[in-house]
Amino acid sequence: MAETWLPWCQKRPGDRSRTGYLLKSTRSLAEIRYQVNHSAEGWETYLRAGSAPGASWTFSNLQGGKMYQHFPLELPTWTSGGRRQNIDGCAAETEGVAGQPMNAAQVANARRLYSDLNRLCPNMRIPLLGEGFREHGELTNGYTACPSGRIQPLYDSYKVAPPAPEPPPQEEEDVTRYISFRGHREVYALAGGTLEHVPNGTIMNAQVDGKWPVEQHDKNDPDAAKRRTARMLLNLPSHFNTVPEALGGL
Ligand SMILES: [Zn+2]
Repeated sequence: MAETWLPWCQKRPGDRSRTGYLLKSTRSLAEIRYQVNHSAEGWETYLRAGSAPGASWTFSNLQGGKMYQHFPLELPTWTSGGRRQNIDGCAAETEGVAGQPMNAAQVANARRLYSDLNRLCPNMRIPLLGEGFREHGELTNGYTACPSGRIQPLYDSYKVAPPAPEPPPQEEEDVTRYISFRGHREVYALAGGTLEHVPNGTIMNAQVDGKWPVEQHDKNDPDAAKRRTARMLLNLPSHFNTVPEALGGL
């Protein structure tokens, strides 16, 4: 029999007489379909043996971050409630007791185990409860309280965070400016450009360096200029954020 030991786990061989079944002492990796994370209801001193009378488990997932492997993956261990699930499932005992959710180190171990099983076992199911993860209580129709909700952080870790709410659309900078000004025949120039439309005005070419030269051609008739209040629709490039005071503001 090939023996698969995961190199990142500490090898702590258990009693092999407590594994397998009559006429079914081993399994192939293709027979493993899911991972069963149990609540050990106990501690490392108990778990380190990997087996007890009538019981055995493949992994011990410790609160301190260590992961023990007690048997090669090919040996069905006695822990998930019956022959079928002990052959289909790969069992890990989770150190601690009811009321202690898997801690971050244990979640990391369980995820790494799933990842390895998924890589090594061609029929491993997807990482969802009821698929690639099964629970002792569910596999035995509620015969046991195990794992007492302790594995929830693992399942949660696979949930895809909902997409962040869309930020409110940024107000597009309104590059259309209405500019009221008094006067006429003034020359306004955008950087390198000219105004498209100046009612009652005359557009003349002008160049600016980020400034707004204003050339008054009607200085001799200020009243006339005042009367001809024009309203211009300017399509300003977005880098023009300021409106020259010469135009009287927006
Ligand atoms: Zn259990």
